[in-house]
Amino acid sequence: MESGSNAMDFMNRNKKILSNKHESVEWIKYVPYFGIQIMVLGVFLVPITWACVILAVLSYSIRMFAITAFYHRYFSHRTFKASRITQAMGAIVGCSAGQRGPLWWAAHHRIHHRQSDSDKDPHSPQKKGVIWSHMLWFMTEDAKVTPMKEVPDLHKLPELRFLNRFHWIPVVLLATSCYLLGETDWATENFSATGIQWLIWGFIVPTTALYHATYTVNSLAHLFGKRRFRTKDDSRNNSFVALITLGEGWHNNHHFFPGSVRQGFTKWELDPTYWGLKMMSYMGLVSDLSPIPAWVQTKVNEHEEDRSRK
Ligand SMILES: [Zn+2]
Ligand SMILES: [Zn+2]
Repeated sequence: MESGSNAMDFMNRNKKILSNKHESVEWIKYVPYFGIQIMVLGVFLVPITWACVILAVLSYSIRMFAITAFYHRYFSHRTFKASRITQAMGAIVGCSAGQRGPLWWAAHHRIHHRQSDSDKDPHSPQKKGVIWSHMLWFMTEDAKVTPMKEVPDLHKLPELRFLNRFHWIPVVLLATSCYLLGETDWATENFSATGIQWLIWGFIVPTTALYHATYTVNSLAHLFGKRRFRTKDDSRNNSFVALITLGEGWHNNHHFFPGSVRQGFTKWELDPTYWGLKMMSYMGLVSDLSPIPAWVQTKVNEHEEDRSRK
């Protein structure tokens, strides 16, 4: 997008995708998905309290951690080890973020890494435009299917297959729990809560934020930011994306070496997901966190020295 003509190409590509019937986005089936997002307007109808803010922050960060640590770094890339119980818990909390099941997520993500920014990439902003890469890509008939041949390691576990099929159950359970908790005497007396208020602040608002924050890794982190490594794709290190996704924005690092549990490769590249996993490893919940290899670290150090000399 350096020049004006490139910017025009980019806009035209987006327009073409939106009007191309063959891409067949199934708008009608996504009424509940858009419904959740429209319900964000409910924030203007209920009073906000400190309990609401804490609820929203917890609901966002715990589920974001499940997506980044488990859906991404564990199920998609196997960068650490976890017991069946721990991985099932990670999968359940991940499901509650409303981004389909762990096998679906990991299978598409593995294809993305293999084909990144080629015509076969499910969500390349370079090939199909920014809106497509952000959210339209998963709204077609084809994209709904889990390409099981991509995830034979996950497919063999019945509990993961079950969660992949019934991925909506944790979403419904979370939404219902927020509502019912807000209706209890405890919440009403201590926090002046109502069911609708806690549904909006515990589920609707953070779920919408989670959707779009996660999608920025596929859209913005392939368009804007710095490229430390010359990878075959257009991945970028984007600090804004890293901030809202607990460390996933160091996407050029990640495309260069996806086998590391850590995605921030310097001490300034903040990676809260990695810190969380480190804490879980001290508690014995996960183990064998794959480190950044010495040859990668050497490249990073050389690059940083070059930069500081300039
Ligand atoms: Zn990518
Ligand atoms: Zn990845």
